[in-house]
Amino acid sequence: MDSNSEPLISPPVTRFAPSPSGHLHVGGARTALFCWAFAKGRGGKFVIRIEDTDQKRSSDAASVGFLKDLEWLGIRWDEGPVYNAPDGSAVGGGPHGPYFQSERLDLYNHHIQRLLDAGSAYEAWDSAEELEAFRKDSLARKEAFRYRFRGEPTAEERAKFAAEGRIPVVRFRSALVAVTIPDEVLGHTVLPAGEVDDFVIRKKDGFPTYHFAVVVDDEFMCVTHVFRAQEHFTNTAKHVLLQDALGFRRPIYGHLSIIKNPDDSKMSKRDKDKVLRKAVKEQGLSAPPANTVTHEEWSSWLASDNVQLSLDGAIALATALQVVLPEINVDDFRRSGYLPEVICNFLALNGWSPGHDIEKFDNAFLKERFGLDRVLKTPAKFDRVKLLAFNTDAMNAMAHDDFVTRCRAHAVIFRPEFLARLNAEQFKLLMLATKERSKTLDEPFKSNAFLLESDESLPFKDDKSVRKALGIGATLEAGAKSGLDHLRAMHSILAACAWEHDALEHAAMEYANVHAGGKIGSVAQPLRIAASGATVSPPIWDTLLLVGKAGTLRRLERCIEWAEALR
Ligand code: GLU
Repeated sequence: MDSNSEPLISPPVTRFAPSPSGHLHVGGARTALFCWAFAKGRGGKFVIRIEDTDQKRSSDAASVGFLKDLEWLGIRWDEGPVYNAPDGSAVGGGPHGPYFQSERLDLYNHHIQRLLDAGSAYEAWDSAEELEAFRKDSLARKEAFRYRFRGEPTAEERAKFAAEGRIPVVRFRSALVAVTIPDEVLGHTVLPAGEVDDFVIRKKDGFPTYHFAVVVDDEFMCVTHVFRAQEHFTNTAKHVLLQDALGFRRPIYGHLSIIKNPDDSKMSKRDKDKVLRKAVKEQGLSAPPANTVTHEEWSSWLASDNVQLSLDGAIALATALQVVLPEINVDDFRRSGYLPEVICNFLALNGWSPGHDIEKFDNAFLKERFGLDRVLKTPAKFDRVKLLAFNTDAMNAMAHDDFVTRCRAHAVIFRPEFLARLNAEQFKLLMLATKERSKTLDEPFKSNAFLLESDESLPFKDDKSVRKALGIGATLEAGAKSGLDHLRAMHSILAACAWEHDALEHAAMEYANVHAGGKIGSVAQPLRIAASGATVSPPIWDTLLLVGKAGTLRRLERCIEWAEALR
C-alpha cells in the first residue's frame, strides 16, 4: 500500500515531533500542549514521534529527556515511544510505530524509490566544492541559489564519481508551480512558481532529510492536523509538493509564533551563557572557580560567544558566581521549583487566549476550550514576573500535606542532600515552616542551605544586622547584656533543655524575662545567627529543632568565638 486509504477526517490526530538535540524548550512544550489539547478536546489522538534523522545532533538521552519533560507537564501521548512514567504506568506504543524515524528507513526508501521510478526524484552527485561554486555563481548574478536538475550523468561519469568516492544524494524534482502554503493560524500564502528548489530528500548517509521523513510519517501516522513552530512555515511548501507527488493526503496546518523575551530577543539557551559571561566579566575572573568547568572548556567558552557551556557546567558556574540562570527549557523551570500545572497554564496564555479575561485555568479547561481561532499570530512575550506570581498563588493555595508531598518529590530529584540530612518529621517541619514565604518548590531548600553546612564550618555573616543583634561594637548601658552575652548564657540553658518546641520556648522566655526585659527577640535573634549563620531562618525554635541539640550547641560555641574575635 503506497498511502493510507482512510480519509483524514475527525476525530483529529495531532503529533509533536521533536528533534532530540537538546532539552525541551518552552516553545516546544507549548507546541506539544496545543497539539495535545486540540486532539484530546475533540476525542482524537496525540502522537509523539522522535525525529532523529540528523544523526549528528540526536541522542537517546535527549529523547528520554523530552518524554520525561512532557510526562511531567501532564502531556500524555496516545501513540509514540514507550515511556515508563514514575507512577508505574506505561505511556506510548501504538499501531503506527516505530516512532523513532531512525527505525523507519525501509519505509522512507520505498517511497523515495517510487519518486525515482516516476522521475520525480533523481540522484545528484555534486561535490561540496561544486555546490559552493554554484552558490557563488548565483550570488554574483544577485540571484537566490536554487538547485535544479543538471542533466543525467552518463554511465562513465557515474563510474568516475563512484571511483572518486562520491556518494549521491537524492533530490526531489520540485514542480515549477505556484504553491499555496496552507495555514489556519496566519492565513494561507501563495508562493510563486519556482521558489522551491530541488531539495535533497535522501542524504549521503542514507537517511532521509527532515522534509521527506515528516511527509511520509504524517501520512502513515494518519496525522490530520500539523501545528508547529513558525520557522517551518516555508518548509510546508516543500511538504505540500511532496504530498502531491506521492499521492498523500494533506493535513491541516497551523504555524505558531515564537515566544520571546520581554526585550524582544529570542528566548534561547544562549541566554544562560550571556548571564554567566556578564558575571565573569563583572567579577573579573581569569580562571574557572574550583569544581566548575575545566580550564579548556573555560577558555574555549570565553573565546567565542558561539560556544555554549554544558548544562552541568553552567549550573556549577552559576552556583560559584552566585548568579541565577534564566530558565529556558522545561527542565530548568522544574529545577527552579515551578509547578507543572502553572507552566502549562502560563505557556498556553503565551500564544492563546480563552477570552473573557480568564487567565487561570488547568489542562482540562484548555482541552475543553482550545481552538485555532484564538491562537495569537504575533510572538508572545514571556513575562517571568507574572509566571512567578502565578506560581506563588498556586503554592499558597496548596494544602499543607500536598505541599510537603510535592516538596519531597522535588527534593528526590534536585535536593537529595536535604533528604539525607533530615528525617521525615524534620523534613515536614522545615517545609511547613517555609511554606508561607515560598514562591517555588525549591525555595524551602534554597533558603535553608545552612542546614547542610557542617557544624564545624558554618560561616557567620558579618554584616550590620548581625553585628547589631550580637552587640558588636555597641556601648552598653551599665548592667545591660549584649546579644553575645545572651548567647553565652543560653548555651548552658539549652544544654540542659529538652529538645522540644515548647520546652525551648519556655526556657528562653524565662531567661528573657529576667535578663532581657522580657524581649524574647533580643535572645532569639542571636540564637538564630548562631544556628543559621545569618538573621533570616524559619521560626527560631523550629530552626533549633532542625539543627539538632548537639549541632546547635556546637554552632553557639563557634559563633561566640567568632564574635569575640570581631570585637
Ligand atoms: N523536528 C522538527 C523540530 O524539532 C519538528 C517538525 C515538525 O513539527 O514538522 O523542529
